[in-house]
Amino acid sequence: MNTTRPADAPGGGEFDLIARHFQRQGRPAPAQVALGIGDDCALLVPTPGRQMAISTDMLVEGRHFFPDADPNALGHKALAVNLSDLAAMGATPRGFTLALALPSADDTWLGAFASGLFALADAHQCPLIGGDTTRGPLNLCITVFGEVPPAAAMRRQAARPGDDVYVSGLLGEARLALEIRRQTEWACVHTPEADRPDLMQRLDRPKPRVALGRALGGIAHAALDLSDGLVGDLTHILRASGVGAILDWASLPRAAAIARLPETHQHTCLLHGGDDYELLFTAPANQRQTIERAAHTSQTPVHRIGHITDTALDLQLVDAHGISRAIVGHGYDHFA
Ligand code: ADP
Ligand code: MG
Repeated sequence: MNTTRPADAPGGGEFDLIARHFQRQGRPAPAQVALGIGDDCALLVPTPGRQMAISTDMLVEGRHFFPDADPNALGHKALAVNLSDLAAMGATPRGFTLALALPSADDTWLGAFASGLFALADAHQCPLIGGDTTRGPLNLCITVFGEVPPAAAMRRQAARPGDDVYVSGLLGEARLALEIRRQTEWACVHTPEADRPDLMQRLDRPKPRVALGRALGGIAHAALDLSDGLVGDLTHILRASGVGAILDWASLPRAAAIARLPETHQHTCLLHGGDDYELLFTAPANQRQTIERAAHTSQTPVHRIGHITDTALDLQLVDAHGISRAIVGHGYDHFA
C-alpha cells in the first residue's frame, strides 16, 4: 500500500530492511517457487493432484509473548505454530509469507529473529516467499502454504466411535514453563532450577510434528494440533464429529517435571495446558500396528490415551482407580 510508505516504514527504509534480513541472496529457489520475494505476488508451482493446505497464525506482543522475549525463539515459534497446523492436516510445507509490524527497525533484533525463523524454515524446506512490513506495535503474522493428497487430509469431523485417541510427545510442559515464567507459586515450588531450561525450550521452541502428520495421512481419521489444551482441543473434534470420548488419566504422557506436581496441578497442565503443539488424532483400532510404524518412521513418540464413543459431546476421564467422571471442555478463548 503506497500511502503508508516510506513514512510508516521502520527507520532505514522498508526495502533495505527486507533486503537485509529477509531476502536471502545466492540461494537457489526450490523447484516449487517460480517467483519469490520482490514482485507483487509470489508464484508457486502446484504439484498435480494435490490440494493446497493454507493456514495463518498471528503472534501479538503482550498476548502471545512477553515484551522481552528472545527474538531468535520468536522467529522459531512464529513459524513453528504455523507448520504445526500443516502437520495436523497431514500436509507437506511448500512456502510461507511473513507480515510484520515493528515499532522500530532494530537490526540486532531483526537479525536474531530472522536466524531463528530461517533455521526452522530450512529444516522443513519451507522458503519465505513474500510478506508485508509496516511500523506498529510488534505483531508477527505468518501464512503457510502446504500440499496434501486429497484422501490424506485429516479433518476434525472424521472421528468415529471405536477409534483410538492418540497424542504425540508429552503433555503439559509448556503450561508449566509459562507458570514458572509468571512466577506462579505452585509451579516454582515443585520445579527444581535444573529442570527449568528444558521446560522453557518446550514453551519457546515447539517442534512441529510435520513428519508424523505426513505419515498419518490416509491412516488416521481426525487430527489437530494442541494449542489450547487437551480437553478444549479434543472438544473441537468431538463437536465436529458428533461423538464422545473416554480418556485414561494414567495413560496421559507426562515428563518427570509434570509427574512430580500435586495431582490438581497435573490436571491443569495435562488437561488444560496450552502451547504443546503435539498432534492429537484418532484412528481405527485395527490400525494400531500401522500407527506404531508411522511413529517409528517419523521418529516421533505416540501414546494411546483413550477412545471415541458414540455419546455425542460426552467427555469422560477414567482416574487411577478406574472411576469415570465427566470433564468439561474449555480451552483458551481470547474473548471469553
Ligand atoms: P506491495 O506494495 O506490492 O504489497 P511491498 O512493498 O509490501 O509490496 O513488498 C515488496 C516485496 O517485498 C513483495 O514481494 C513482498 O512480498 C516482499 N516483502 C515485504 N515484506 C516482507 C517480509 N517481512 N518478508 C518477506 N518478504 C516481504
Ligand atoms: Mg505490501
